[in-house]
Amino acid sequence: MNFEAVKQFIKEAGLPNFRLTQVREAVYKRGITSWEEASSLPEDLRKQLDQKFPILSFKVSKILYSQQDRTAKALLTLQDGLQIETVLLKPQDTWSVCVSSQVGCALHCSFCSTGKMGFKRDLTQEEIADQVLMWFQYVRKEKLGERISNVVFMGMGEPLLNYVSVVEAVRNLSNPDYLNIGVRHISVSTSGIADKLHKLAVDLPQVNLAISLHNADNAERSKLMPVNRKFDLDDLKKALEEYIAMTGRQVFLEYSVIENINSRPEHIRKLADWIYSIKDNYLLHVNLIACNLGRGEKTEDRVVKEFAAGLKAMGIAVTIRKSMGNDILAACGQLAAQKR
Ligand code: SF4
Repeated sequence: MNFEAVKQFIKEAGLPNFRLTQVREAVYKRGITSWEEASSLPEDLRKQLDQKFPILSFKVSKILYSQQDRTAKALLTLQDGLQIETVLLKPQDTWSVCVSSQVGCALHCSFCSTGKMGFKRDLTQEEIADQVLMWFQYVRKEKLGERISNVVFMGMGEPLLNYVSVVEAVRNLSNPDYLNIGVRHISVSTSGIADKLHKLAVDLPQVNLAISLHNADNAERSKLMPVNRKFDLDDLKKALEEYIAMTGRQVFLEYSVIENINSRPEHIRKLADWIYSIKDNYLLHVNLIACNLGRGEKTEDRVVKEFAAGLKAMGIAVTIRKSMGNDILAACGQLAAQKR
């Protein structure tokens, strides 16, 4: 919701300030889905708000629930008819939301459904933040208990190629007057847009940074992730060293294990060597995930465990993350790609 526009409207209409507080309470505390539900507001104001300010900047076209684990995925239709997706998941005790930052993506990673769609457009900060507001409404409506405490930019798109809107959305989401999600509970995952890391360290030093690495060999990584031709592992290394020096923050290296593609012993060795070549590498942590191949298939757990054991034996900090929502195509881009 464009709360700033509502603020302006209430000011220009000469309404008392407490009306704004009531709007804020209704939207960000009670999770109303229509202005009709804002019972503390007079009827004529509710009607005006209804005509001028949609609570969400898109329509929710479909929500799929996973039978396997507590995961839900939504397909959203934007005002121009384009579609994006967002996921609600509960990896631990609280809810996390995975948001999209672009419609499609220009980076064409070979394992990614979104990459196959091509790039359509950037999302506005409102469209990004509203994905979390939508799940907040859903969690309240379905009485799912705990609040949403984490947001990850791991949905459709490369967040650092929509930099301004992503930074604004993080500021919006962490605003104590809105959803009040701590910046340290927000993670930005990038395919490795090395020339944006300095600016990110300046603008959002508290946000968590994750790099989708998936291979530590330049030639192989370029095949998997063509972005590596523009920012290779050396560029990434230099940018990471600077980022860590500026923020002192831990950085996560995401590695989707794809059997026979990046899962062999030489891949473990190259990954460990690359990590050891980076200054202050004690702040780097590898997250392994069994690659979700779609249609309910994924890399076998045994392969991921062997990869983790190999890294551990070389002294690398590593965690195996649970791959969630396989039965609802929760890997990035799969639902929207299937619609096309
Ligand atoms: S993995 Fe991310 S960066 Fe790569 S094509 Fe998919 S959305 Fe884009």
